[in-house]
Amino acid sequence: MIHYVFCPLCSTKLDKAMIDGRDRMFCPQCSWVHYINPLPVAVAYTVNKNSELLVIRRAHEPALNEWALPGGFLEAGEEPHEGCLRELMEETSLVGHIESLIGIYHREVEMYGSLLVVAYKVIVHNDDITINHELFEAGFYPPHLIPEVRIPLHQQIIRDAAAIEKGKKSYRPLTVPALPL
Ligand SMILES: [Zn+2]
Repeated sequence: MIHYVFCPLCSTKLDKAMIDGRDRMFCPQCSWVHYINPLPVAVAYTVNKNSELLVIRRAHEPALNEWALPGGFLEAGEEPHEGCLRELMEETSLVGHIESLIGIYHREVEMYGSLLVVAYKVIVHNDDITINHELFEAGFYPPHLIPEVRIPLHQQIIRDAAAIEKGKKSYRPLTVPALPL
């Protein structure tokens, strides 16, 4: 993640000050404040018609070589659920539809800092996978054969999806109508 030393607007060296309850870097010349916000990520808990779960083995950092759920960063102007389906398509060529929201999570990752993660349950009707360069492999697995997923957030998403499945947990609808500002 980027830590500014100089103001990106006027190139003055930044100072530190308590602003809005936190230590933040700010520009003593033009008053620009370096607010740091989480990066939005979508994760796809993806099942096929046999209720098998899609897991992928990552070919890039962070968590290189780890089994995981597919997902990635949202683009500006993109609905979170659209970004989720786009990432799934890019990584595996699978076309799916959103069944439900599983949860919204916050995580700190050394490489990117703060992440805001939106996890959806996605259903695919055709499970022919073609992986891209971001993955070493990907496949659908029945519950007892799923490779060990060691990323804590992804473990939690899998647990939460199971709890929702058993009716022990639920979430409100996916999207709300857009309101004019
Ligand atoms: Zn400045």
